[in-house]
Amino acid sequence: MVVGGGLAGLRTVEELRARGYAGEVTLVGAEARPPYDRPPLSKRLMAGELDDTTLRDDLAELGARLRLGETATGLDSGLLRTDRGEHEFDRLVLATGAEPVALPGPGPQRFLRTLDDALALRARLRPGLRLAIVGAGWIGAELATAAAARGCRVTVLEAAAAPLAAALGAEVGAQTAGWYEAAGVELRLRQPVESVQPGGLALAGGGWLAADEVVTAVGVRPAVGWLEGSGIALDNGIAADEHLRASVPGVFAVGDCMAFWSRRYRRRLRFEHWDVALRAPVVAAANLRGAADTYDPVPYFWSEQFGRMMQYVGFHGGAGQMVLRGDPAGPRWGACWLAGDLLVALLAVDSPRDLAQGRRLIESGAAVDAARLSDPGIPVRDAALG
Ligand SMILES: Cc1cc2nc3c(=O)[nH]c(=O)nc-3n(C[C@H](O)[C@H](O)[C@H](O)COP(=O)(O)OP(=O)(O)OC[C@H]3O[C@@H](n4cnc5c(N)ncnc54)[C@H](O)[C@@H]3O)c2cc1C
Repeated sequence: MVVGGGLAGLRTVEELRARGYAGEVTLVGAEARPPYDRPPLSKRLMAGELDDTTLRDDLAELGARLRLGETATGLDSGLLRTDRGEHEFDRLVLATGAEPVALPGPGPQRFLRTLDDALALRARLRPGLRLAIVGAGWIGAELATAAAARGCRVTVLEAAAAPLAAALGAEVGAQTAGWYEAAGVELRLRQPVESVQPGGLALAGGGWLAADEVVTAVGVRPAVGWLEGSGIALDNGIAADEHLRASVPGVFAVGDCMAFWSRRYRRRLRFEHWDVALRAPVVAAANLRGAADTYDPVPYFWSEQFGRMMQYVGFHGGAGQMVLRGDPAGPRWGACWLAGDLLVALLAVDSPRDLAQGRRLIESGAAVDAARLSDPGIPVRDAALG
């Protein structure tokens, strides 16, 4: 039994079949649509280049019982309860993803999480539309890009001192602020929003922003509310061990909903990265089949905003130093985070080669020279010492 019909749920079924599992598989998914891809929703689909991101149209070939439009509501030993009934299971994989955080207030607010959200929002984007986006994170920046290109009057409100501050830190995030202005987007930093009201936003400090449409993009939380009281340990998501086993025997977790024990970083981590939803199911499926494989990735994600490709590899949670690589005012630059003399994370803006070389350095654990990393004339790999 797999709960959650997103990328992680689908990948789990695919990997089970690829490993020769021929028994019954049921995929329960709250959305009525077959599994689809989310990253294009704020990029190519919002730009009008795509209308559908369905992941595979030969779903039947997987031989899974599909229970789409069905929501899991609770769990007992060996029994999954849903809004349509009960299902017995021998093994269970939890892949319920994440859901957007809403702002208080009675006014209408949109989100950008599902394909239906994206299609409905795109249909509203027209020249002159006053669009208020709350949150200058990844989704806010990508939506601002597409909406500005469609002629909307876009204002992005951000409570922090810089875009992407939560993900990259204010110093690195601040390097992207100029991209908004260049795209004709108004970016208001240090501007918390109090509530969504009919016709606009009530701002902290007493201000008001009139808007035709409000999109709230202040982050997501793991979709695990339905597991409260089920005996499954939760800790900012489903607490899983390094083998992706939840606290109840026979239950595994994958994707955005899972907070796994990272051997590499010696802490529990939860990511909202496509790459995790793609790859964690490989480990979960192997372990469902009796292996004891470890999930221990160097994390990776990307974003496409304001005509640039941003790629990030690693985890800078424990970094003591950050060095910029190249000039952020130029077309290609990056940031490198170090813990002692180890490279622990690298951001590459329109520099896929830096990304690839940085990943290898991070994986190898080689000592590096910070001054050489900061020089874009020196290949990242040549920053390794010795
Ligand atoms: C607009 C957008 C753009 C993105 N762009 C990028 C990007 O550029 N790079 C990147 O690395 N990542 C990106 N991501 C993140 C990436 O898409 C996610 O990390 C990935 O989709 C997670 O997959 P998942 O299967 O774990 O969860 P989800 O995709 O959230 O799927 C979970 C599914 O489970 C269902 N569900 C939830 N609760 C229940 C329940 N109780 N019962 C049954 N079903 C349930 C949900 O309805 C959903 O269909 C983006 C995300 C969004 C929304």
